Amino acid sequence: MGPPGAGKGTQAKVVAEHFGVPAISTGDIFRANVSQGTPLGVEAKRYMDAGEYVPDEITNRMVRNRIDESDAAQGFLLDGYPRTLAQVEELDGMIKFTGHKLDAVLSVVVDKDEVVKRLLQRAQIEGRADDTEDVIRRRQEVYAEQTEPLIGVYRDRNLLIEVDGMGEVDEVTKRIFDALDAVPQS
Ligand code: AMP
Repeated sequence: MGPPGAGKGTQAKVVAEHFGVPAISTGDIFRANVSQGTPLGVEAKRYMDAGEYVPDEITNRMVRNRIDESDAAQGFLLDGYPRTLAQVEELDGMIKFTGHKLDAVLSVVVDKDEVVKRLLQRAQIEGRADDTEDVIRRRQEVYAEQTEPLIGVYRDRNLLIEVDGMGEVDEVTKRIFDALDAVPQS
C-alpha cells in the first residue's frame, strides 16, 4: 500500500520475483484492458482518466478471476488492491475460499511533495493519461479518503509493515526485504 507515486509498482515487481510469485497489479491490468480496447477497459478508462477509483464490483471481479489463474496457486503479491473497505472484505472472502492466508501488508511511506514530483516526472517519461497535475491531486484525495483508513485496519490485524519509501529504489527494496524477512511465510 502507499499513495500514488510511492513506488508500489516498481517494488512489487522486484519483491514478487524474489518470492517466486506473480505481482498482480490492478492498475496494470486496467491499463492493459484500456490499450486493448476491451469492454472492461472502456468502462475503467472513464474513472481512471478522472483519477477516481473503478467501482468495487468491477475491480473485485477482475481480481477474483486473476487469482484463480494457475500461476497464483502458490501465492501472489497484490499491488494496488485492496483500496477500499469493500475490497478488503472481498479479499478476505476470496482468500478464505482459495485457502490462502494474508502474510503481510506492506505500506510504503513517502513524503507528499516528493510524490507529486515523481508523478510529474513519470508523466513526461510514460505519458500516462492520469498523470496530469489536476488528476494527480484528485488521486491523492481519493487515496486519503478511501485507502489510507485501510492502513489502520491492517495494523489492528497485526499484518502491517511500514517501510520508508524515500531514497533510491535499491535502498527501498533492501528495506522491504529486511522487513519481510521477519514475516513467517504461510
Ligand atoms: P495504479 O496504477 O495502481 O495507480 O492505478 C491506476 C488507476 O487504476 C487508479 O487511479 C484507479 O482508477 C484504477 N485502480 C487501480 N486499482 C484499483 C482498485 N483496487 N480499485 C479501484 N480502482 C483501481
